Amino acid sequence: MKRSIKTVAIIGGGPSGCTLATLLSRKGMRVGVFHIEKRPEIIVGESLVPAIIPYLQKLGVEDEVKSYSSYKPGASVWVNKDEEATSPFSFGGGGLPHYAYNVPRTKFDKTIFDLAVREGVTFFNQPAKIEKTGNGDELKLSDDTLSSTDNFFNGQPDLIVDASGRSRTISRLLDIETKKGDRKDVAVFAHLSDAEKIEPYNIHLHRLEKGWAWRIPLPDRISVGIVVNPNHLKSFGNNKEEQYDNYLKSDETLLKFTQNAVRQTGVAQYDNYQLISQKMYGSNWLLTGDAGGFLDPIFSSGLFLAIKGAFRAADAISEGTDIAFTKYQKEQLYELKIWQKLVNTWYSGSLFTLFKVGQDRMDTAFGRFIGPHMQRHLTRIFSGEAVYRGYSRGFLNFVLGPMISLMKLGRLHNRKLSDLEIK
Ligand SMILES: Cc1cc2nc3c(=O)[nH]c(=O)nc-3n(C[C@H](O)[C@H](O)[C@H](O)COP(=O)(O)OP(=O)(O)OC[C@H]3O[C@@H](n4cnc5c(N)ncnc54)[C@H](O)[C@@H]3O)c2cc1C
Repeated sequence: MKRSIKTVAIIGGGPSGCTLATLLSRKGMRVGVFHIEKRPEIIVGESLVPAIIPYLQKLGVEDEVKSYSSYKPGASVWVNKDEEATSPFSFGGGGLPHYAYNVPRTKFDKTIFDLAVREGVTFFNQPAKIEKTGNGDELKLSDDTLSSTDNFFNGQPDLIVDASGRSRTISRLLDIETKKGDRKDVAVFAHLSDAEKIEPYNIHLHRLEKGWAWRIPLPDRISVGIVVNPNHLKSFGNNKEEQYDNYLKSDETLLKFTQNAVRQTGVAQYDNYQLISQKMYGSNWLLTGDAGGFLDPIFSSGLFLAIKGAFRAADAISEGTDIAFTKYQKEQLYELKIWQKLVNTWYSGSLFTLFKVGQDRMDTAFGRFIGPHMQRHLTRIFSGEAVYRGYSRGFLNFVLGPMISLMKLGRLHNRKLSDLEIK
């Protein structure tokens, strides 16, 4: 079956909604976006991966993003306060640019929003309300929402897209089955001045005793976020500001890098983690970006997935066939599943065990043989390339799974892996 889609209403003017709006407008569709102009003081999603760069180039906004962002040449992971492993993206080789950017998020969102305006998209500065029509899973804009558009869609739109992020407007209304991740963490973050300088401007990820933290160097500040179990966090104070400030002081790793820092913003909190809708489209609707699924942010994959998904959605919508919509859903779910697998390697400790094993075996013939290979493919986790390169995926599956298990049996080396294992 082919749907003739000429008018599209998009709920949410974040990066996924605005990217999709731009692409559909370029294809000649009439696109209206419901957008809430008031945004929080600071928004998470400040570190990009190299895999997003080709999409920024296709949109034609890379130069603008570059003009207000810090250049990110790699990622650094700290196993404890003194042990750092740095991977410049150039170690990953491959076909992606060897850089990305750390972006002040409000400026990044404005860039994607302004592009959509330039491309002829119409914005309605109000939240959208949607309802069921009673006909299967069909949806419509509520009468109030529709009447406020001044008949822009000439009746109901042909398609309603949910790009409302973690609000998950359509999934919640239709009670769509979801897959949740194992983690129930909470993230608190703020911008600091006078924190220890980071050069070059890699993202820094710190493994903490009860979670992890990020330090993202922005042009004039450092974004520091802590991701931990909510009950643990509560023991640090009565409100999120107290909890954040006290946590920084109490953890020796964070203290080392922030002891002279001054918090310049309020503290923002995010507490729903890893949720993936098992259906990405219906009779007259589609989900894109976080509204379709979001993952634990450890590898900074969110904006890349949101923007890449919008490119996929634009192709499916302009094709309009059931086959195209099914393909969209299949590809989205597959990609989220692979990222989820990589995320699990951080929490299971296997990523760190591998790092330790690598260090320990560098003086052996086996280590010298496999070391550079391992470094290349581990770097590709941080660039985003490992997800869609079959070989990288296979190699990482092997080294993070069977190879570690074999080592546990002591069959590859006579030193016991349990001496090096990190859980
Ligand atoms: C702690 C944490 C850290 C993260 N760090 C990173 C990172 O370093 N790098 C990265 O790439 N990603 C990161 N992410 C993920 C990233 O923030 C998201 O993946 C990204 O914002 C998704 O974009 P989106 O357009 O789908 O949704 P959003 O950016 O959430 O945009 C949705 C928009 O819809 C609007 N909206 C909601 N309901 C309605 C309604 N009814 N009507 C109209 N508008 C509505 C909202 O106001 C918002 O403007 C992180 C996420 C978390 C939780």
